Amino acid sequence: MSRILFIDPFSVVIIENKAVKAEKVDGNVFGGFCKCGGMMFQKAWVDDTLMISECERCWKVEAFRFNGRKLVERSEVEVVFRQNLVEFLKEILSPSEFEAVQNKAKNVQYNYNAFSRAKKKLEELKLNIDEILNFMKT
Ligand SMILES: [Zn+2]
Repeated sequence: MSRILFIDPFSVVIIENKAVKAEKVDGNVFGGFCKCGGMMFQKAWVDDTLMISECERCWKVEAFRFNGRKLVERSEVEVVFRQNLVEFLKEILSPSEFEAVQNKAKNVQYNYNAFSRAKKKLEELKLNIDEILNFMKT
């Protein structure tokens, strides 16, 4: 598997540059064992084929790909949490797009074209613009 990103606050998985909305798993559902020996708990699923699990001991997050009940692959996942969401947005948006989103969130004048480009990029990543704006307000 190539680089996998999990955007935790929005439960979105980005794999091979394609974004998919994952279904969050609540409670402590067993999700395999980590290489450190710790127990892993399920965080989210994509289409019953890709499970995202987190280790309770070292907090490493991994993706497990299944074919039916058979585990085919596992690989490490980079997680974007609320606290590094701004960095992530800066990574995917151009400076002017980022500024436009920030300004709109703060209710000040913003560049409309830059904002619509940003909105399109975010929507392609299955990120809801209103949720992002709400987040940027704080
Ligand atoms: Zn671990």
